[in-house]
Amino acid sequence: MIIRRFRASNFRNIESCDIEFTEGVNLLYGRNAQGKTNAVEGIYIFSRGKSFRAREDSELVKFGTEGFRISVEYDEGIHHRTLEYALFGKERLRKKNGYKISKVTEMIGSLKCVLFYPDDLKIVKGGPEERRGFLNVAVSLINGTYLKMYSDYKKALENRNCALKFISKGFPVTKDELWSWSESMAEYASYIYLEREKYIENLSKYAGEVMLDISEGEENLSLIHECDIEVGIRERDDVRRAYLKLFTENLDREISAGVSLYGPHRDDIKIKINDKDLPIFASQGQQRSAVLSLKLAEGELIKDICGEYPVYLFDDVLSELDDKRKRYVLSGAEGKQFIITSCEAEDLLGYTDNEIDVSGGKYVSAHR
Ligand code: ATP
Ligand code: MG
Repeated sequence: MIIRRFRASNFRNIESCDIEFTEGVNLLYGRNAQGKTNAVEGIYIFSRGKSFRAREDSELVKFGTEGFRISVEYDEGIHHRTLEYALFGKERLRKKNGYKISKVTEMIGSLKCVLFYPDDLKIVKGGPEERRGFLNVAVSLINGTYLKMYSDYKKALENRNCALKFISKGFPVTKDELWSWSESMAEYASYIYLEREKYIENLSKYAGEVMLDISEGEENLSLIHECDIEVGIRERDDVRRAYLKLFTENLDREISAGVSLYGPHRDDIKIKINDKDLPIFASQGQQRSAVLSLKLAEGELIKDICGEYPVYLFDDVLSELDDKRKRYVLSGAEGKQFIITSCEAEDLLGYTDNEIDVSGGKYVSAHR
């Protein structure tokens, strides 16, 4: 996918902009606080349906104005597509290819973007919930059913937790009621487990190749799915049975804890470099390279499933890589589109296809 144009009015510090993008490497450069990330944020909203840093969309409205409007034009194969989103007070207007849509979910999944921004370093440095979050967003982008299954799983989990809490406090909840929630949880969990197994296995393969290339053959990255049941089960029925067995065998512990102690909501991904756990010893550059490898691998999986590369949004993340690693990343943009932000543009300028000077919410492009 190639984004051709991003337009915004009264969005963050942008009064009005009309930015054109090209294939290859697009560099948004400028001093701090000028609007580089704001443009990336606006584009990403179309991919995921929400901002990666605002809690509420009302935060995105330019101070002192009534509402914002953003739109993106992109090519998907030979098709030219458009998406628009406007917010005025409580009124939201969303359009897809010129037609009004009522739900944000109708927008998600059309424009596929892989984002890498500084907070993503938490995927290697943070707790399991960060890696689960990454996994959920990545799998959802290529599999709409996964998103639905995960949200149904969370509902069943909430209900089961409620039942466990009631039992632990001596309220009359029948074991049948609890069993029906256990069955629902096991049902959704079996789907989630199999999708995660498949995804992590493929991601590990691609990310391993990228990491090996970035490090010139020195660093071997691998990913391991960590969950409460054995990994490597292939049949959905077997997975379901394994979860039910776990729930049954540990029921007393769960009742005294008043909460579900097992299931995909506790999964993790172990990230290893040369067979050692990554977060424990890795340097800054290695951590960054590992996340970059995951993100580039995520793009390869999107290409495998959807037939086209996503747009890669790299917000301020190449700066800590050494020149060789930087060059490796930029040379991989052929046949793809990278939109990169940086305040230290000098060392990137020679490798770009389109440079955009960002200053005070204004974007001035110089095509090469
Ligand atoms: P850095 O290099 O530090 O990452 P940046 O160019 O990416 O900088 P942005 O995050 O895009 O900067 O933000 C630019 C400016 O937008 C900031 O000064 C911020 O205060 C401003 N800003 C954020 N939200 C709004 C808003 N709702 N209305 C007006 N200005 C805003
Ligand atoms: Mg920024």
